[in-house]
Parts: sequence; C-alpha cells; structure tokens
Amino acid sequence: MYLKKVEIHGFKSFADRIEIEFEKGVTGIVGPNGSGKSNINDAIRWVLGEQSAKTLRGSKMEDIIFAGTTNRKPLGMAEVSLTLDNSEKKLPIDYSEVTVTRRVYRSGESEYYLNKSLCRLKDIKEIFMDTGVGIDGYSIIGQGKIDDILSNKSENRRLLFEEAAGIVKYKTRKEEAEKKLENTKQNLTRLDDIISELE
Ligand code: ATP
Repeated sequence: MYLKKVEIHGFKSFADRIEIEFEKGVTGIVGPNGSGKSNINDAIRWVLGEQSAKTLRGSKMEDIIFAGTTNRKPLGMAEVSLTLDNSEKKLPIDYSEVTVTRRVYRSGESEYYLNKSLCRLKDIKEIFMDTGVGIDGYSIIGQGKIDDILSNKSENRRLLFEEAAGIVKYKTRKEEAEKKLENTKQNLTRLDDIISELE
C-alpha cells in the first residue's frame, strides 16, 4: 500500500484545485517558506479524520477553508481526496485503489466519501485501523512527534505498538461490545424494577 495521489481544493492556501501524484521515487516536497508544504501534510491528516483544529494549526475548523487574499474572495468549501494503492489488499476493501474524500462547508456541514460513496467517519477510521495510516497511526510523524513519543507516558507509547501489532481493531470492538453489554445490563435492571412494581 502506498500513497498515490492527493487532490486538494479550497483547503488552506490551495484555492485552486491541485493534484499531487506521488509517483515511485518521490521522497519529499520542497519549496520556499510559507509556500504550503505543511498545508499538504495538514490536508492528509484532515482527510483521514483529524478533528482537532489545533493539530491542523488553526483555532477553529473553519480556518482550514481558503480564507481569501487581497485579490481573491474566500471560498465556502474545502475538499481533499487521498488515493492509496491497495493492490495487496492491506485495506479491508475489495478495490485495488482506495480514494478517501472529506468535504466541509463554512456552515460546518461535513461529508466523508469512500471511493465516491458517502460514508461515516467511523467507516474511514475502521478501514485504516491497524494499518499505521490513520491519524493515530505512525505513517504521519509531524514535527515534534518523535520527542512526544519518547517523553510520553508508557501507556501512550503502547498505543503505537498496538497499532503495529494489528490489535487496535479488536480492542475497539471489545470496547464497543463492553459498552453495549453495560447498556443492556442497565436496561435489564430497569426492566426488573418495572416488573417488581407491577407484581
Ligand atoms: P515553512 O517552510 O515556513 O514551514 P510551509 O511551506 O510549510 O512553510 P505552510 O505552513 O504550509 O508553509 O503554509 C503557510 C501559508 O498558508 C501561509 O501563507 C498562510 O497564510 C496560508 N494559509 C493557511 N491557512 C490559510 C487559509 N485558510 N486560507 C488562505 N491561506 C492560508
């Protein structure tokens, strides 16, 4: 699995639609200060489901939409698509190419797509679980992240190893099942109360 293409439209400094193809051999993006290199990284994190405006170097989510310049009006929408090669079927989806799209409007309305079909953030998170690619994965190491990992609590470091070991999805499913079990237990207690009131 590898990153094939990033398409950006209306995200931060990219008012016009741009397409970056990561052909074999591409190892870096260079450019003058302020030209938008980090914005590309932000766009990749964002499309994978990043919810923190601070992590995306803004103060609110709206800051990621092109804010306009002296001779260009602000835009009302930002959209980013990420295309990954999936010929080895590392992602649990039956396509050899997977495109994830996220779109947000100034109203705050947000949409996610998987290969052009509307989906939930949960679906995106699930397909990237245990692959290292998701926002909690280790394929995106931002500035300062290494220090963070080294100085972090051991429980936090453990999450990284769990992702690499491929057990995050089982842990998540276990937590979901435990939550359901807890809800069911509470419902049973409530039912018991009603039954004893009726008797
Ligand atoms: P450096 O090498 O200094 O780290 P860089 O190439 O990584 O720079 P970025 O941080 O990606 O640059 O881009 C910063 C530019 O993006 C700034 O000029 C900033 O004004 C612009 N920018 C950020 N958010 C928006 C927005 N919502 N609308 C328009 N422009 C924006």
